[in-house]
Order: sequence, then structure tokens, then C-alpha cells
Amino acid sequence: MDKDEVAYHIHHIIKQFEDPSRDGLFETPMRVAKAWEHWTGGYLIDPQSLLKSFEDGAEGYREMVVVKDIPFYSKCEHHLADIFGTATVAYLPNGRVVGLSKLSRLVDCFARRLQVQERMTVQIAETLISSDLEPGFVGVYVKARHMCMESRGLCQQGHHTITQAFRRHFDLGDDRYNLCRDEFLAIARS
Ligand SMILES: [Zn+2]
Repeated sequence: MDKDEVAYHIHHIIKQFEDPSRDGLFETPMRVAKAWEHWTGGYLIDPQSLLKSFEDGAEGYREMVVVKDIPFYSKCEHHLADIFGTATVAYLPNGRVVGLSKLSRLVDCFARRLQVQERMTVQIAETLISSDLEPGFVGVYVKARHMCMESRGLCQQGHHTITQAFRRHFDLGDDRYNLCRDEFLAIARS
């Protein structure tokens, strides 16, 4: 990202409302550019590289691993307004595990892009199911607030949008899949 280019345009946006050269605003364009560098930093992260798995060190742990309520901060691609909330991410190990902090970083990697909540939810699930972790099951539950709607009075303040995505390995049977999904949703919603 070219910070000077972004700052230049922010300067001209501010100019629509106020004198951008006044004290409080003078350094704002570059501050905004630096902030956006962080908010869009997810484009520079390869999501699969976060998921380097290792052989099971947990004595053949075969139950679902759930990381609940991972906070995230994103921007909606329609208004560049804040989307923020939590994501709960789970996978069913298949002989390999991944560091738990990697699941938080995976959420962050997709959150720090221009997003719609539905796509972010699916991207997290797709990345996990196609990783060399080869999990039996993947569940993603995202609960978020959209400032483009709340701040313009288009929905009630504090209202949440919930999205979810499930994926399974081809050899996970229907019964186990349904159990995993029910168990995951009970944890995610609790
Ligand atoms: Zn929006």
C-alpha cells in the first residue's frame, strides 16, 4: 500500500467538510493512511502459511477443538465502516493439530480485509478444511455488529448478525457430522 497516495486522497476527502490545514487535522491524512495499513494488513498474510500443523502431541486427541469468542475487527466493503464481533472456530483433529493461537490469527487475517461477514465466515472454514491439517470437521460461527447499519439507524444498536459455516472431510459420516455440528453450535451459542 502506498501511504502517500492514500494520505493524499484522505486530505481531499477532509477538504469536502473542513479546512484540512487546521491544527487538529493537519496530520490526520497520514495517520489515517497508517491506520488503514493495519486494517488491511490481512492481504499480506498467506492464510495457509498460518496453519502449519504438527503430528498429534496430545496422545491421540480425537475430540473437537474449539476456540471460542475470538475478537475481530473488520471493514465492510460497501461503506468501509467497522464490522466487529467474535468468531468461534472449531475443528475435529485427524491425527494432526495446530497451535491454538493460529486459529485467532486465521480469523484476523481474513478480518483485516474489505469484507462481508458471510464471505469471511466461509473463507475461514474453507482454509481450514483444505489445509494440511485435514480435519474431519470444521465449524465457524461469527457474531458481529455492523456500524454502517447501526450508525445510520438502519438497524437497532447492539443488534448482532450471525453467520455460520460447516465443512467436513469426505470420510466423515452423516451421523458424526451431525453430532459435531450440534456440539459445536451448543458451545458457540453458550
Ligand atoms: Zn456496509
